[in-house]
Amino acid sequence: MTDTLDTGAGDTGAGDGGAGDGGHHRFDGTSSRRLLARLRDIMAGSGSGQERLDKIVTLIAAEMKADVCSCYIMRAGEVLELFSTEGLNKTAVHNTRLRVGEGIVGYIAGHARPVAMDNAPSHPSFAYRPETGEDPFQSLAGVPILRGSKVRGVLVIQHKDRRRYVEEEVETLQTIAMVVAELVAQSELVNPVEVTTTGDPVLLPARLSGTAMSAGLAIGLAVIHRPQLTVRQMVAEDADAELERFNAALSTMHSAIDDLLEAASLAGLSEPRDILETYRMFAEDRGWLSRIREAIRVGLTAEAAVQQVQNDTRARMSHLTDPYIRERLMDLEDLTNRLLQHLAGKTNGADAGTLPDDMILVARSMGPAELLDYDRSRLRGLLLEEGSPASHVCIVARALNIPVVQAADAMNRIEPLDQLIVDGDHGQVFIRPAEDIQMTFAEAVALQHRKEQMYAEIRKFPSVTRDGVPISIQLNCGLLIDLPHLTASGAEGVGLYRTEIPFMVRASYPDVKAQTDLYSRIMDEVGDRPVIFRTLDVGGDKMLPYMTGGEEENPALGWRAVRIGLDHPSLLRQQLRALLLAAAGRPLSVMFPMIAEVAEFVAARRLLDLELKRLAVQGIAPPSGLRVGTMLEVPSLLWQLPALLPRLDFLSVGSNDLTQYLFAADRGNPRTSTRYDPLSPSMLCVLRRLVDECARHKVSLSICGEMAGRPLDAMALIGVGFRTLSMSPPSVGPVKTMLRSMDVGALRQYMSGLYTGADHSLRDKLRSFAKDHGVII
Ligand code: PEP
Ligand code: MG
Repeated sequence: MTDTLDTGAGDTGAGDGGAGDGGHHRFDGTSSRRLLARLRDIMAGSGSGQERLDKIVTLIAAEMKADVCSCYIMRAGEVLELFSTEGLNKTAVHNTRLRVGEGIVGYIAGHARPVAMDNAPSHPSFAYRPETGEDPFQSLAGVPILRGSKVRGVLVIQHKDRRRYVEEEVETLQTIAMVVAELVAQSELVNPVEVTTTGDPVLLPARLSGTAMSAGLAIGLAVIHRPQLTVRQMVAEDADAELERFNAALSTMHSAIDDLLEAASLAGLSEPRDILETYRMFAEDRGWLSRIREAIRVGLTAEAAVQQVQNDTRARMSHLTDPYIRERLMDLEDLTNRLLQHLAGKTNGADAGTLPDDMILVARSMGPAELLDYDRSRLRGLLLEEGSPASHVCIVARALNIPVVQAADAMNRIEPLDQLIVDGDHGQVFIRPAEDIQMTFAEAVALQHRKEQMYAEIRKFPSVTRDGVPISIQLNCGLLIDLPHLTASGAEGVGLYRTEIPFMVRASYPDVKAQTDLYSRIMDEVGDRPVIFRTLDVGGDKMLPYMTGGEEENPALGWRAVRIGLDHPSLLRQQLRALLLAAAGRPLSVMFPMIAEVAEFVAARRLLDLELKRLAVQGIAPPSGLRVGTMLEVPSLLWQLPALLPRLDFLSVGSNDLTQYLFAADRGNPRTSTRYDPLSPSMLCVLRRLVDECARHKVSLSICGEMAGRPLDAMALIGVGFRTLSMSPPSVGPVKTMLRSMDVGALRQYMSGLYTGADHSLRDKLRSFAKDHGVII
């Protein structure tokens, strides 16, 4: 086992001093400490880098009783040059060169792993170099010299006899290698240009584990987004001139943001205003601007003033952990950087000419407008160090179908133009991946593209099962930017419009006018297709920054959704008023979230009626047709169906919340969120009962939780009797493909035997059914 090369740090092949070690000096903790103490002296002492390196190899050879100690340093072109040796021919120093991958030394560099072996010459990787005079040496232990994730060289010891190295020897060599790495970096043993040239030092493959923020796979080259500009001149001579410069930069920045919005509209992104509005608002914020102007008046340059105000803001807000505030802080950072760029006369950080065709942006944080600065046709993925799925940049990225992963330390680990794979499905990033990983992911990306093409094709075909049962596919949306998907996906309408997202990205509660404008834009956009507006579903973990509710121990069971609306009727009434005004003469569907009892529905409906009356008094046209419904998310409502259903036009199952309340399992807690399966007898019994009751009361029924968008779950839902499924845009293709391949009659019959079973989950059985019956899931 000792001459195997494939050894990691924990398995160096270093035995416990067994065969071949008898009679040798034993290297132990004391020897190691002594060696390191002497090493410290050398580092603290005088001498050039080369002299100190020579001392180090002599010391190692002496202390480790090695016949040879050599240090190879990485040079440009992935070449390892012998820089210093004790025991080999000195004439070989600076002459012997090995390519990475060549010989055992090259192997250590290429794999960035320590190696220990008792019979080096017999190993296939052994490269004989006569000038070194190394023929008589049998055993070898070597470690890579690493700095960050880069290999800077290799440190080896050799012995004439066959011996097994003990773990302590290899570990000590690794520690020394760290010191040598510093020496290489500090003393410029190698021209620093050589060291920093990209592609020259060997970079290790690495994997970062993070959080998935936008689904999908992307392969490309790293482009490091560095918006920070350093402010050099702090004090200005002429405050008026500085103010003028600042005003000019501000107005160019405003028009640049407007151009960006317009470009986004032209690119078919609709107007992403609801996201960028906050951003604009900050850009026009009087407090922010007047603080900057004040700082200029005091004598700072425009750049220094912008920077100083940002530093103050950062310091004042640094202790706040509220995610909303942190997001706003990022928007401000983004604006500050933009202003600094405009002051410096640089208008765009993304110089298209120098960017690769397939690029993955790597950023500490980023604002939505910054993302839109980059050429969409080249942008494949995004890797952020900071950010949450609710951040503006992620919302925009999802709308653009760009995979996003958030992972700490990304900027330190990645070099410009590094090959990257962003796996937005599993929240991982592969940095400089090995060829086999690259190939696997390239296949997955190709498959993803083929599927997308197939899904695009299927748009033309009717949404009907194999045995002719029509199924209505609707979309779940939450932003104007989502709406172009309606046409692109061929969905019939919007089954759930989550109105809370625009509320969450604003700094204050939008007034009736702002809401009316937004809702009427949505209605314009969807045209003749139906859209169900769900009233504000905030609270719990979706608290609005301008709404004080206090911390709650059990937010999911707390003061949220319609409960807030009923306690603050003016808020709910304003929203209902805006919806009615926006509809004026057009059809309107309104849905209330989190209704737990009929009385709540009645109370909410009463507020709507009050608003209808108010409309009539003002002589404003009512909607051409008004449909009112509720989400079914709270199980208590299941026992009031006879009283509830006659009052409803429609009912939509919010299976995300229904599952969490039915099983008493927090949907946001990874330990419980997948513990119970919605494809379980209890959940399917509940759903079947709803199907029967709604049919009896002639109330239209749909389902808009995540399960409606998962092909296997959607199959089961159709088997249970659902005919309307509402899902996020990317699910439409897979679900439509599935339903066109299924036979409802056969599934219904199969499922009739499943409802009363004792199974924890019916997923496997349903999957087998799908397989046996050619259902594409
Ligand atoms: C649900 O609970 O299933 C639902 C669709 O609502 P949300 O996910 O917005 O809570
Ligand atoms: Mg819900």
